Amino acid sequence: MGRKTTVSLIKCDVGSLAGHHVVPKPILNIAEKRMEKAKKKGLINSFYVFNVGDDIELLMVHDKGELNEEIHRLAWETFQEAANKAKKLKLYGAGQDLLKDAFTGTVSGLGPGVAEMEIEERESEPIIILAADKAATGVFNLPLFKMFADPMNTAGLVIDPAMIGGFKFEVTDIAENKKIVLKCPEEMYELVALIGEVKRYVISRIWRAEDNLICASTSITSLTHIAGRYVGKDDPVAIIRAQHGLPAVGEILTPFMHSYLAAGWMRGSHWGPVMPVSLRDAKCTIFDGPPRIVALGLQIADGKISGDEENKPLIADLFDDPAFELARRECLEYTVMLRRMGEFEPARLSSEHMEYTAIAQIIGKFKDRFTLKSEK
Ligand SMILES: [Mg+2]
Repeated sequence: MGRKTTVSLIKCDVGSLAGHHVVPKPILNIAEKRMEKAKKKGLINSFYVFNVGDDIELLMVHDKGELNEEIHRLAWETFQEAANKAKKLKLYGAGQDLLKDAFTGTVSGLGPGVAEMEIEERESEPIIILAADKAATGVFNLPLFKMFADPMNTAGLVIDPAMIGGFKFEVTDIAENKKIVLKCPEEMYELVALIGEVKRYVISRIWRAEDNLICASTSITSLTHIAGRYVGKDDPVAIIRAQHGLPAVGEILTPFMHSYLAAGWMRGSHWGPVMPVSLRDAKCTIFDGPPRIVALGLQIADGKISGDEENKPLIADLFDDPAFELARRECLEYTVMLRRMGEFEPARLSSEHMEYTAIAQIIGKFKDRFTLKSEK
C-alpha cells in the first residue's frame, strides 16, 4: 500500500488584463504568497500557481483528502483577496466567477472549478494536468475517451496486459445533476452516445476496471447552471495519472495532435477549435480565443510535487513543443472558416444553449409580432 496523497486543482477567473486576455502578475503574486504561507503552516505540502488566459489555477498537493474544508477555504480566500486586488486595479470582470458571498464548506457550487484526486502513490507517480480557457466543461470528453477507450490512440489497451480489462467512466449529467458509470469496452457505444453531447454529459472520473484504481478526475462546474444566467466560460481542468498499467504520457498527449471543436469561445456562445499551447501562449486574442489548452507534467513523490535543489516543483510544459504545430495550424484554419460564418449556425451555438443571452430576449420581444403563416 502506497502513501495516500491528494492532488487538488482549484481554478477561478477573478478578473483579467485587457478584457478576458490574461491574469496579470500582481494577481498571480497574491496567489503565490497565500500558497507559500499555507505551505509554511503545513496545510499543503507543495503547490504550483499558473494561469491559462484569464483563469488562476491553484495546484495543491496535500494529505487532507478530497473536498477538505481547510483546502477549499484556502482556495476561496485566495480568490477573494485576488478579486479585491482586481477590483482595485479595475481589471475586467473583477470577481466574476465568485458567484456566492459566503463560503459553505467547499467551493462546489460557489463558482470556482475543482478537480481532485486522492491517490495511493505508486513507485513512480507521473501526473498530467490539463487546463482550458474559453471552453465549456465537456471539452475533455473527446480526448479522455481517446486516451482510455480508443485502441487506435492508446496502444496500451492492446499491448499492456494491465489495461486489457478496460476502464470505467463516470459521466455527469450537468443539467440534471446526476451521474452514471459506464464500462469500456463493453459499453463503449453507449458511452459515446452520451459524451458526444458535450454541453450536457461530462466525463467526471475514470477508474481502471480490474482494481478500481483512480485514473482521472475533471472539474464539472457549469457556471450557467449555478448562476441561472450567462456569467462566464467554465474553463475546466483535469488531473490524469499516467504510465505503468495506465495510458503512457505520450498516449495522453496524442489526442491533441489535431485540433477539434469545443463550445465556448466568444461570450461562451460559439463553437471554437482548441489550440494546445505552452504556458507562454496561454492567453486569448482572436475572438477572445481560440480556446486554449495547456498540459503540464509532474511527478508526485512522498506527498509532494518532485522538486529541484531549492524545492521548487519540477513542471514539464508539455505543449511547448513543435510536435503540436500541426494542431495549432489546423486550429487557425478552422478559426478562419468558422469566423467567416459570423453569427450563423453552426458557428454560433444552437438556441437551446443560448437561453441566458440576448437571443432569448430578442425572441421574447418579437413574440407578439410573429403571426400565423396562414393569416394575411
Ligand atoms: Mg476563462
